[in-house]
Amino acid sequence: MPVALFTHPACLGHDTGPYHPECPDRLRRVLQALEHPDFVPLLREQAPEATTAQLQLAHPPAYVEAILDINPAEGDVVYLDGDTLMSQGSHAGILRAIGAAVAAVDAVMEGWANAAFAAVRPPGHHAERAAAMGFCLFNGAAIAALHARDRWKKQRVAVVDFDVHHGNGTQHILERDADMFYASSHQFPCYPGTGAASERGVADNVVNLPLRPGSGSEAFRQAWEGIALPRLEAFAPELLIISAGFDAHRADPLADIRLETEDYGWITDRLLAVADRHCGGRVVSVLEGGYDLDALAASAALHVRRLMRQ
Ligand SMILES: [Zn+2]
Repeated sequence: MPVALFTHPACLGHDTGPYHPECPDRLRRVLQALEHPDFVPLLREQAPEATTAQLQLAHPPAYVEAILDINPAEGDVVYLDGDTLMSQGSHAGILRAIGAAVAAVDAVMEGWANAAFAAVRPPGHHAERAAAMGFCLFNGAAIAALHARDRWKKQRVAVVDFDVHHGNGTQHILERDADMFYASSHQFPCYPGTGAASERGVADNVVNLPLRPGSGSEAFRQAWEGIALPRLEAFAPELLIISAGFDAHRADPLADIRLETEDYGWITDRLLAVADRHCGGRVVSVLEGGYDLDALAASAALHVRRLMRQ
């Protein structure tokens, strides 16, 4: 199965400083892991820059303009919230990160790839319509979903999110749209505080799986198997987009869900099975969090391996 890998060196130029967990080495380590000989078959593509029109699929024009107007001088940073900032290289990095997600949708819809992985940073799932937060400025997964409808006329698009944090931004952007589906497993309570099971969207099109700290593999798998996967199956997506964060790993310093690397292979396989039944196996995956570099590299590599059906 041909799988495309979209990335761009500009994503490394988003400089968060020496002590920030969302650091360029995260992406370096993921790309290094994908240099293993098993990944030779990947179709390696340079991510294009997202257009303003693509950003505006999920964000109001005034917000897009305000973010793109921030151009710090070399060595300067501009904070958008306590842990979300822009450096001189951020502008280019953000555009390539979103461009990768959009191009990944085009790759699977054009049919030259069966699945596509956007290896990018910064992540996007906390970015709401008009608010940067939680390391995120624009929401790549939500933009990819809306692009699938805008350009490819897909009516039902699902975004599933196994990052350990609730994708409040993705939910915020998609929850009022009955043709869009969002499912998330996440530690609860935890940052950003949203994602209670009672948050269900306008048409039961949002499924939240709050997991207690310390939950572990079994609770994670039971929640997906028992609740979210049947709902995803019933939704019958025409395209499946994954917000692939790897910070629920037991080694991750930012949360305490204690997954094993193998759990990421399991969830990838389960999602592919749904995609095979409903959308010809078409899957787009976008890198979100993951802050222990070894665990991130191993988990992302396993995820991509399974996308390649290895
Ligand atoms: Zn996260």
